[in-house]
Amino acid sequence: QTIGDNLDATVARFPDREALVDVAQGKRWTYAELRTEVDRLARALVTAGVEVGDRVGIWAPNCAEWVFTQYATAKIGAILVNINPSYRAHELKYVLRQAGISVLLGVEQFKTSDYAHMVEEVRGECPDLREAIYFGTPDWERLLEGANQTSAEQLAKVQSGLTNIDPINIQYTSGTTGFPKGATLSHRNILNNGFFVGELCRYTEADRVCIPVPFYHCFGMVMGNLACTSHGACMVIPAPGFDPALTLRATQDERCTSLYGVPTMFIAEWSLPDFASYDLSSVRTGIMAGSPCPAELMKQLIASGIEEVTICYGMTETSPVSTQNRTDDSFEQKVNTVGRVGPHLQIKIVDPATGEIVPRGTSGEFMTKGYSVMLGYWEQPDKTAEAIEDGWMHTGDLGVMDDDGYVRISGRIKDMVIRGGENIYPREIEEFLYTHPDILDAQVIGVPDEKYGEELCAWIQLRDGAEPITAEALREFCTGKLAHYKIPRYVEIVTEFPMTVTGKVRKVEMREKTTAKLG
Ligand code: ATP
Ligand code: MG
Repeated sequence: QTIGDNLDATVARFPDREALVDVAQGKRWTYAELRTEVDRLARALVTAGVEVGDRVGIWAPNCAEWVFTQYATAKIGAILVNINPSYRAHELKYVLRQAGISVLLGVEQFKTSDYAHMVEEVRGECPDLREAIYFGTPDWERLLEGANQTSAEQLAKVQSGLTNIDPINIQYTSGTTGFPKGATLSHRNILNNGFFVGELCRYTEADRVCIPVPFYHCFGMVMGNLACTSHGACMVIPAPGFDPALTLRATQDERCTSLYGVPTMFIAEWSLPDFASYDLSSVRTGIMAGSPCPAELMKQLIASGIEEVTICYGMTETSPVSTQNRTDDSFEQKVNTVGRVGPHLQIKIVDPATGEIVPRGTSGEFMTKGYSVMLGYWEQPDKTAEAIEDGWMHTGDLGVMDDDGYVRISGRIKDMVIRGGENIYPREIEEFLYTHPDILDAQVIGVPDEKYGEELCAWIQLRDGAEPITAEALREFCTGKLAHYKIPRYVEIVTEFPMTVTGKVRKVEMREKTTAKLG
C-alpha cells in the first residue's frame, strides 16, 4: 500500500469523522473534506508538470496546507522535501540544490523572516527551481485552479502506478551533531512506522492527537500525521510554531486524547505558572521522544493523569521509531526505558570497536534493521555506506538492553566525555541534576582540559524564583551521590539552551561557547 492508498482507505471507513483541526486558522476538516483538499492539490501539481520522482520542497511551519501537501505529493509519487522553517538563505540554497527541488511551496511571511525574499536571493543559483508558490497568495489560488485540467481518473492512474518502495520523502536530520543529512524514505518506511506507532498508542477513530512538534521532522509528519490518518484519528495543530500555553489550550479545548512533545516542550508546559488551570482530563496517552526523556518528567506526566504516555526512541534515518513503550508497561519500565523493539523490527547492541553483540546489561552502540531503515542519504552514497551495514543502521547512540528486552539510551557516542581515561555519559549526571528542587533543566557537556583531557560543565536553567546556584553548591549537592569524576567542575546558569527547531539541545554549540569563555 502507498500513503495515498492508505489515506483513501481511511476516508472510505470514516468519511464524516474529523481529520484535521488548524487552531490558528480556526478551520477544521472531516476525512472526506481532507481528501477533497488533498486530491485537488494532487491534480493541480500534475497540471503544473510535477512528475513521479520530482522533488517538491515544503518550507513552512505547521499548518493545514503542510498536511495537504504531504498527502498530495505522496499520491502523485513526487518526493516531498521537508525544509527547516528556521533556515536562512544559505541553508535554503544548500537544500534546494542538494535535493534538486523543482517546485517549492511555503508561506511568505513567518515571524520575522521574509521567506520570499530569501528564495529570490538564492534563485539564480538553483537551476532546478521552476516555481516558488506561497500558501494563500493569488499564485496559490492559480495553482489550485489548475486542478480542473487533470481529471480524477488521471490522478488515479498516476497513483496506481506507484509502488511502496518508491522514495517519497527526503528529510534532513536535525543537525544536532553536524550538518543535516538528507534521509531518503519510502512509503513503506514511513507509512508502516506511523501505523505501528499508532497501534502501540492504541489509536482509533475516537482519538484526537495534539501535535505541537514540527511537521518538518518525522515526529510531526510520521508519528503525528501518518499515525493519525492510518487509524482514522484526528490531527490537531495547536499553533504554527511551538507555544506552551497555546498547546495546552488546544489540548483542553479540542478534548485531545494524546499529547506529543520533545522533553523541553513538556518541561515548558508543565512549568507554566497557570498550568493547574488547564483541564487535561481528556488526555489518555501521548509521546515523549526526540532526546533523552528525564525520568522525573515522565513521573510528572503520569501523575497528571496521562497514564498511558509512552516514550519512543528513533532517528530520522529509521522512519523514525525503533523502540517504544507499550501502554501496559510497568511504571518503572515507562519512566526508565525507551521500551522494547517495535513490531517487525530488529535491534542489537554491539561493541563499537568489534561490532560483536554485547551481553545484556552492557552498554554499546544501538543498531536497528528492518522495514524502517531509509533507502539512503540523498545523493551521498559514501555516507550511506558508512551508516548502513548489511541492512543494519548505525545509530551513533549508546544503549543498554535488559533481560526483558527493554532498552535504556545512555547517550550519543559523540557526546560521551572522556575525563582522565574514564568514560562519562552526561545523561546519567543530567538525570541526577533533575532531582534538585531548584533545577528546571540541566545539560552536561565536556570541555577541553589540559590535565584531564576533558572536564565536565553543567548548563543549568533554574526554576522561577530560585536563588542562583554556585558551582560550589552544585558540587556539594552531588558529593557522595555521584562518583567524584562525574561531578561537574564548571556551572553555567542560563535562561535557555541553544536548540534545533526540532527541540533538541545543541551540545556542539554549548561546548563551543563554554570553551571560548574558559579561553
Ligand atoms: P544529526 O543526525 O543531524 O546530528 P539528530 O541525530 O538529532 O541530528 P534526528 O534524526 O532528529 O537528528 O534525531 C535522532 C537522535 O535523537 C537519535 O540518534 C538520538 O540521539 C536522539 N533520540 C531520539 N529519541 C530519543 C530518546 N527517546 N531518548 C534518547 N535519545 C533520543
Ligand atoms: Mg543523527
